[in-house]
Amino acid sequence: MDRELKQKLIAMAAEARHNARAFSGFHVGAALLTKSGEIVTGCNVELHTTLSSICAERTAMVKAVSMGYTDFEAIAVVSDAEKPVSPCAFCRQYLVDFDPDILVIMANAAGTEVVEMTAAELLPMAFMGSGRDEPQ
Ligand code: ZN
Repeated sequence: MDRELKQKLIAMAAEARHNARAFSGFHVGAALLTKSGEIVTGCNVELHTTLSSICAERTAMVKAVSMGYTDFEAIAVVSDAEKPVSPCAFCRQYLVDFDPDILVIMANAAGTEVVEMTAAELLPMAFMGSGRDEPQ
């Protein structure tokens, strides 16, 4: 993936974070690149019941699946923090479940600090199910 596309994903994730519903005050955006070249954004959507809240990464993935996309190439994640933030455990499992090779691009809001890892690198020895690989 070229640098220009990575910067576009980071910029779209940074923009998407402004839509976050964040009681925590922590705004996160994500931009998910499908293998067909579509970009689907997401933001964290927090509820008063913390356990029901959903992160930006999973918002983007669930949104993409609902649009008919299930093959993902990369995802950029951007928050308000000065340093890049990494996906939480739930999001790592989500990413790996779709494709361990998804490139995760973690950037600070300014896009000046970027860390890249695959989903598998973020979640080694991930649980991959019972062996029945295809959803019914
Ligand atoms: Zn998460």
